[in-house]
Amino acid sequence: GCGICVKKCPFDAISIVNLPDALEGEAIHRYGINGFKLFGLPTPKRGAITAIIGKNGTGKTTILKILSGELVPNFGDPEVMPTQDMVLQRFRGKEIHSYFKELYNKELRVVHKVQYVEVVGRLLKGKVSDLLRRIDERGKLDEIRTLLRMESMWEKESSTLSGGELQKLLVGAALLREADVYVFDEPSSYLDINERLNLSRVLRQLLGDKYVLMVDHDLIVLDYVADLVNVMYGEPSIYGRVSKSYSVRAGINHMLKGFLPSENVKMRDYEIRFYMKDLAEMEGVTGTSIKISWSGVQKSFLGFSLSAPRGEVREGEVVGIVGPNGIGKTTFVKILVGELKADAGIVEPEKSRLAYKPQVISPFTERTVREVMEDASKDSLSSSSWFYVEVVRRFGLHKLLDSSVSSLSGGELQKLMIAKTLAKEADVYVFDEPSAYIDVEERYVMARAIKRVTRERRSATLIVEHDLAIHDYVADRIIVFSGKPGVSGNVEEPVPLRHGLNKFLREFGITFRRDAETGRPRANKPMSYLDRLQKERNEYYAME
Ligand code: ADP
Ligand code: ADP
Ligand code: MG
Repeated sequence: GCGICVKKCPFDAISIVNLPDALEGEAIHRYGINGFKLFGLPTPKRGAITAIIGKNGTGKTTILKILSGELVPNFGDPEVMPTQDMVLQRFRGKEIHSYFKELYNKELRVVHKVQYVEVVGRLLKGKVSDLLRRIDERGKLDEIRTLLRMESMWEKESSTLSGGELQKLLVGAALLREADVYVFDEPSSYLDINERLNLSRVLRQLLGDKYVLMVDHDLIVLDYVADLVNVMYGEPSIYGRVSKSYSVRAGINHMLKGFLPSENVKMRDYEIRFYMKDLAEMEGVTGTSIKISWSGVQKSFLGFSLSAPRGEVREGEVVGIVGPNGIGKTTFVKILVGELKADAGIVEPEKSRLAYKPQVISPFTERTVREVMEDASKDSLSSSSWFYVEVVRRFGLHKLLDSSVSSLSGGELQKLMIAKTLAKEADVYVFDEPSAYIDVEERYVMARAIKRVTRERRSATLIVEHDLAIHDYVADRIIVFSGKPGVSGNVEEPVPLRHGLNKFLREFGITFRRDAETGRPRANKPMSYLDRLQKERNEYYAME
């Protein structure tokens, strides 16, 4: 094996089903008698990067396993032992038939970067450079090291890697393999913004003539990398269905709008809109009074030092925090919320009411979801409240109220921690990487709720986040960290979003414009007309 692919699935079987009858004939796979059921499969195309986007628990990973040949689909009947011949029979006359024929005849070689890098990480032994050298079939070792910026992890033992480093190792390993089909399940997890932009560039550059399949939740990465998009919809963990292939722009826009025109399907009852006029015009827009400020803050660990000369966040304002991994973002916000004591400097006021969602979350308790929510706020579960409708229900927490917190999945726990933090009445809210483990739809539910709470309560919010589209969606101003990861971090003063991102993106040479239909930020294709024009004008983030 290449050390990339793990076969054992971490899921247990699930129960209850209420399936739309109309779909019955199209079932592709079912896990167990009452298990999750998948409808439809995207058809991979050579020379195209195909992305699958949508809610968690609707079968994205299952699709990747089927198209990798790791899982032979049973067409909805878990009683039969499916065979490859059966699959070829079923797909005869369809476009996807030739793909499976080549796959099963071993004419297509597949590499699969799996979703759970931590699981694979535990199985790896040896130095990064040695591991990668051994599998360098394409003779691209040096190129990959440079492109993915792996210099500082090159001589590290694989068992000591951070999440982001492990992700880069596994993506790098997949790219070094000579294959026909490259499959990437959530490659942006744990990566910082810089690394995500790099990853996007590298995937496009190195896989031009291959079959490429990808699942991810970061809209900027997806938009930059993919040619085609298939949107997943359905009832998480009960059934999932995949849409037709759309162009990347149309697919992402349909997903945001929650409506698929080719299949005439309304996926959900709300739209995700980037122009949040409704929020901007809401009572309580950014005021002038300062909710939290800092000056002369210094903190040193052995080998690392942080400096935050000055800055403030005003009432009703959301400030995004951007910077590479290891530059001190978590250290800084811990100082703001009083979890860490600075060596020098002041944070004012000393006693504000704080609500904090830390980066590392753990199922800390045997209590139930209901108890945790009621503890945060007595009214958080009253079903007529705004909070219940837009946070509790949209996060799906209403179905988990009697579950023990210790039984939740990573995504469920993240949603609980975000909801619990928002439920509290506070002057200052701090969220450290809230979109980790949660899907694309939930990220925007989260961001919208954060903005609304901040505006309505006239509080101040800081949010550390690696998803650039989320910053665009939620942040009024941003703080960009400068310095050297693992050595020193400098906290710049908050600046208006556009200004901050413009400066930040200039370093990468990637330009952005706004999509006319949805208002979301889109990366320009390198050397396109807009790319050249914006670079000439020094407008890397052109967002009128
Ligand atoms: P996604 O990638 O969209 O989050 P998955 O394909 O991982 O979705 O899973 C879809 C559903 O199938 C989930 O509800 C999951 O619980 C279930 N599932 C996944 N793998 C298995 C398995 N090996 N056995 C039983 N159920 C599974
Ligand atoms: P970020 O959130 O930007 O990824 P962190 O604030 O977590 O960065 O870490 C910044 C640097 O400080 C890293 O090099 C990290 O190893 C180091 N560091 C963080 N906490 C401690 C600690 N308690 N003791 C020693 N070093 C630490
Ligand atoms: Mg951090």
